[in-house]
Amino acid sequence: MENENLHYDVVIIGGGPAGCSCALYTSRSSLKTCILDKNPAVGALAITHKIANYPGVSRETSGADLLQLMRDQAISYGTEYVQTQVYGVETNEDIKTVYTPEGTFKARTLVLATGAMGRTSTLPGEDEYLGRGVSYCATCDGAFYKNQEVVVYGSNQEAIDEALVLTKFASCVHWITNKKPGTSLNGVDILHSAENVRQWERTSVVAIQGNDEGVNSVELKQKSSGETISLNTTGVFVYSTGNLPITDFLHGQVTLNAEGGVCVDENMMTEISGVWAIGDIRNTPFKQAVVACADGCIAAMAIDRFLNQRKNFRLDWVHQ
Ligand SMILES: Cc1cc2nc3c(=O)[nH]c(=O)nc-3n(C[C@H](O)[C@H](O)[C@H](O)COP(=O)(O)OP(=O)(O)OC[C@H]3O[C@@H](n4cnc5c(N)ncnc54)[C@H](O)[C@@H]3O)c2cc1C
Repeated sequence: MENENLHYDVVIIGGGPAGCSCALYTSRSSLKTCILDKNPAVGALAITHKIANYPGVSRETSGADLLQLMRDQAISYGTEYVQTQVYGVETNEDIKTVYTPEGTFKARTLVLATGAMGRTSTLPGEDEYLGRGVSYCATCDGAFYKNQEVVVYGSNQEAIDEALVLTKFASCVHWITNKKPGTSLNGVDILHSAENVRQWERTSVVAIQGNDEGVNSVELKQKSSGETISLNTTGVFVYSTGNLPITDFLHGQVTLNAEGGVCVDENMMTEISGVWAIGDIRNTPFKQAVVACADGCIAAMAIDRFLNQRKNFRLDWVHQ
C-alpha cells in the first residue's frame, strides 16, 4: 500500500473496547484518528460469549456484537479502521511512527490498546526459533513460505484466520488441532475444503526442531495412539490463547510493571510524552470492558488537552 500520507493526530493500536472508546472521543473532538487492529474477532471482548455486566446492554448481547457497536460508533464519527498487525513502533520523536505489513503510519500521539491476550511460549524450541521459522503473524511472515509446507497449531479463531492467510502462500498448511474447533468459529469449512490444507485432529505439537538455518521439523503426538511423528516444515505458526499483556511490538520502549503491564500516570500517559496505554495492556487486577472503556475516555480527553497545548507545534503535513 502506498501510504506516505497516512498522518494522524491519534493512532490507536488495538480495536477492543479500550481502543474503540478512545477513538469515539478523539474523533468527536475532530482529531484525525485511526485504529490499527490485528483482528476484530480475537480480543478479550470479541471472544466473550455473553456480556451481562456492561451497563445498559441486554443479557443476550455477545461480546462480539457489543464490540461491533463500539467500532461502528467510532467509525460513524470519522475514525478510520484498518485491520492490520502492528509489529514495531518508534516513539522517541515528537511524531510517532507505527510499522505494519500494510505500511507505515505517522501520528502526533500514539495509544497502546492491544489488551492482554498474549501468550508465553509453551513449546520446546518455540523461543529458540522465534523469527527463524516460528511466527505468530501469518500476514507478516506468510509470504516467506511460498510453496513450502507450514504448520499452524491451534483451534481458536485466530488460528483459523491465520491458516486461511497461509493457504494463499504455502504448498501445504498442516493444521494441528488438539481439540475440536468450536462450532461458532468462522472459516472451518473453508479450511476443510481447501486443497492445500491437511488437518491433524486430536494431535499436539510437542517440540519444534531445527538447526543454524532455522526450523526444519516439528514433533507431533497423536492422542488416540500416543504415536510420535516427525513432520518436516520450515514454518510453524503457534496460536494458543494466553493472558499476558501484548507488548512485544514495543521492543522495550516503554516501562512495564512486574506483571508485564504498561505503566501509566493518572491520565493514562506512559513515561514517553505523547504515548498513552489503556485497557488490559496495563494488566491491572480489574480487567473489565467498562474499565477498558473508561481508560479510553480518560486518555482521549488527556490527548485533546495535550494537542491543544501544543497547537503552535509546527506540522509538516496538512489535513485534507
Ligand atoms: C473469556 C473472557 C470473558 C470475559 N467476560 C467479561 C465480562 O463478562 N464482562 C466484562 O466487563 N469483561 C469481561 N472480560 C474482560 C474484557 O473482555 C476485557 O477487560 C476487555 O476486552 C479489555 O479490552 P482491551 O481493549 O484492553 O483489549 P481486547 O478486548 O483484548 O482488545 C485488544 C485488541 O487489540 C488487537 N491487537 C493485539 N495485538 C495487536 C497488534 N500487534 N497490532 C494491532 N492490533 C492488535 C486485538 O486483535 C484486539 O482486537 C472477559 C475476558 C475474557 C478473556
